Amino acid sequence: MPITFQDLNLNKALLQALEDLEYEFPTPIQDKSFSVVMSGANVIGIAQTGTGKTFAYLLPILRMLTYSSQRHPRVLILAPTHELTIQILEEVQKLTKYTSIRSLAVFGGGNINKQKQSVYDGCDVVVATPGRLMDLVMDGMLSLKSIQKLVIDEVDEMLSLGFKPQIVSILEKIPEKRQNLMFSATLSPDIQNLIDTFFPVVQLIEVAPHGTPLDQIIQQAYHVPNFNTKVNLLSNLLTRNDELAKVLIFVGTKKLADRLFETMELKLPGIFAVIHSNKAHNTRLNALDKFESGEIRALIATDVMARGMDIQEVTHVINFDLPQQSSDYIHRIGRTGRADRRGVAISFINEMEREFQHHIETLMDKTIPMFPIPESVEISMIFGADEKPEFKGNVNYLKAPTSKGGLAFHSKSAKNSKVNLGGPGKQMRDAKKSKGKKSHRRG
Ligand code: AMP
Repeated sequence: MPITFQDLNLNKALLQALEDLEYEFPTPIQDKSFSVVMSGANVIGIAQTGTGKTFAYLLPILRMLTYSSQRHPRVLILAPTHELTIQILEEVQKLTKYTSIRSLAVFGGGNINKQKQSVYDGCDVVVATPGRLMDLVMDGMLSLKSIQKLVIDEVDEMLSLGFKPQIVSILEKIPEKRQNLMFSATLSPDIQNLIDTFFPVVQLIEVAPHGTPLDQIIQQAYHVPNFNTKVNLLSNLLTRNDELAKVLIFVGTKKLADRLFETMELKLPGIFAVIHSNKAHNTRLNALDKFESGEIRALIATDVMARGMDIQEVTHVINFDLPQQSSDYIHRIGRTGRADRRGVAISFINEMEREFQHHIETLMDKTIPMFPIPESVEISMIFGADEKPEFKGNVNYLKAPTSKGGLAFHSKSAKNSKVNLGGPGKQMRDAKKSKGKKSHRRG
């Protein structure tokens, strides 16, 4: 059974906050860290951004933080940049919305008088960049004598930005009896040195980099005009290619997830399940279990729901729609493959989504190879409101070749004009052949 947040020793306020966020499953770093941090141990967590590392330290810390009206903070979170302090503060506030825990951020560049006032008003959790924190401490505005938990986030970044002297000064000002938590993408000799000097007894928690590196994922896409044609193409791929054995299908909304599930259930009964936050807790676990064990072949999921899910050996990710956020695309496709094997990500892109395709390709600095829709796939002329090409009513549109660069929807007649990339099956086989070749890791 997959672990859910309900299985962790959280309280009602935190569970409610997580439910509001629609987060159901702890990510691997959250799962691994929770009991260790709760035990009071010093921890160095090796995890990259995007793995859920912020909640990995916030959840146990906030779980342990009791009510207090005292002015001086009890939790100090150090981060290297202004942006990250704001981001962490937002995460703290998402989790504390049902509690009276007070939190604030102080960072260089922000209005120091305002920050002085907020600090003076009192807080429980302070998120800070080291320089500004020291300014406030030296001014006598902020006392660190009540700090019980110290978090240093992105330690690697902190050291490479030259913050070590400030960190050392801060360590001298906070009580010796405290818990130390550090998070970093790598464990460099500099970090090891910092740990050896200041935190001799530290537990190491490491998680694999989030998802499969970009260059190990075979990306493919089809320009598909509308929902019905996407459904036809999905059925076609699943029917003619049994290499699509464990398929994670992403959609942007719960409504679309349900609609797709109901449609596919009629076309290819018994091989699909759907998972999103409106489904009952047990239904979700059941679906995930069946997918994990291979009882069903395809799982339809929304972005939020899928983020925390740890599913092994997904052979294919299908983007039934393209996400507006390019980073969501990277997260989605990173769910396929394994450390030693390539995965395949296939995107279905309608007219409206081509703009997102452009942004994604810019972000990756890579174009996604396009494939013609197979001849046997029926192209529907029924368009939803969010699928209509701007020049609606042009019946020749589907068959018209584009003049500049971009591909038109692949009609049957357009098929033969496309470069033969070998189709998904061939690419997969080629990838297997090249398996073992050295590739660079992302991040
Ligand atoms: P981080 O690695 O801490 O920067 O987190 C990356 C993103 O994942 C943030 O937007 C978090 O709010 C989100 N997130 C964290 N934990 C979970 C979870 N268990 N399920 C879904 N999303 C999560």
